[in-house]
Amino acid sequence: MTQLFFQKKVRWISGFLFFLIVFTSCSDHEKESTITGTTMGTTYSVKIRFDESPTLSATSIKNKIDSTLMILNQQVSTYIPFSEISRFNALSAGEWFEISHHFQAIVEQALDVSTISGGAFDITVHPLVRLWGFGIDGGIWETPSESDIRHAMNIIGSKYLTLSGNQIKKDIPGLELDLSAIAKGYGVDLISQLLLDLKFNDYMVEIGGEVRCQNGNANNSWRIGIEIPADQQQTSEGFAGVIRLDDLAMATSGNYRNYFIHEGHRYSHTINPKTGKPVDHTLASATIITSTCMNADALATAVMVLGAIDGLELIESLDGVECFLIEENIDGSTITHSSDGFGKFIE
Ligand code: ADP
Ligand code: MG
Repeated sequence: MTQLFFQKKVRWISGFLFFLIVFTSCSDHEKESTITGTTMGTTYSVKIRFDESPTLSATSIKNKIDSTLMILNQQVSTYIPFSEISRFNALSAGEWFEISHHFQAIVEQALDVSTISGGAFDITVHPLVRLWGFGIDGGIWETPSESDIRHAMNIIGSKYLTLSGNQIKKDIPGLELDLSAIAKGYGVDLISQLLLDLKFNDYMVEIGGEVRCQNGNANNSWRIGIEIPADQQQTSEGFAGVIRLDDLAMATSGNYRNYFIHEGHRYSHTINPKTGKPVDHTLASATIITSTCMNADALATAVMVLGAIDGLELIESLDGVECFLIEENIDGSTITHSSDGFGKFIE
């Protein structure tokens, strides 16, 4: 059989369609510290503003951040062979499995988003993610057969996952969890809480483009630059728009970050659990703003599955959640949509 080479473009295709640049200007009396690192197969950055130098050095704050993220990854990363989630995925059906606090908090929120999105968001999608070459097994050489897709679809479905307190159980053999669409957002919330516990109240936390800002100084908002290269109407600062994000979180899912191209067709890493295939519509990216980054992250993925019309309807039905969607036409032109309340965040 001829093997086809699938070119897999991973993460941040710079300059394509949409990306974020966090910037802020400090007032004279403020100082700013930036801490960067890697986690979850991507990078993180944390900016902290303060008037008086903190007692903790940037290195010791970074150490606390890294160890917090390491503990989280040991619970929820499918890329760590003996993480909690990997051990659960290898387990037989019917056995109760005790999960740690972070794992539990993520599963609870994931099941909620699964329900409100009518199953568009589904953390049991892992067998399909692997089949399409976006998981732990790495890229693929040919598109999966219909029978392989049907087989994987028989072993997915959040209704086959039972959560009881801090215990989970799979109700059918082969069920596996994948928290990639929500874990980065949770990581952002976790680091945000860590900084609050360390008595900082003015900071921005970002992991792989998911971001949360806490503003301890009402006169000096955190400003996130959004660049849409296809959009000619850029501001003098070179951005299509600037978003003010105070005491809120923002997450973006897009089919431009992680995909492969085969015979001219782009296959996204977002899988529609109803078809068993990568989503195939004009929605190129979904940005969600709400209070927690975990919820924003999960909803951004849900909207990417639902598409522009149903996605916008879902977000309009939720209190305290706003969205900005970019559709890309075949000729490369873009159309944007935003929920009624999104405008108030635009500078
Ligand atoms: P990113 O922020 O990297 O664009 P997302 O937050 O949208 O990504 O998460 C995409 C990842 O989520 C995929 O790589 C896959 O592991 C998983 N995934 C894919 N489809 C779904 C789905 N329908 N529901 C939940 N998780 C999904
Ligand atoms: Mg997501």
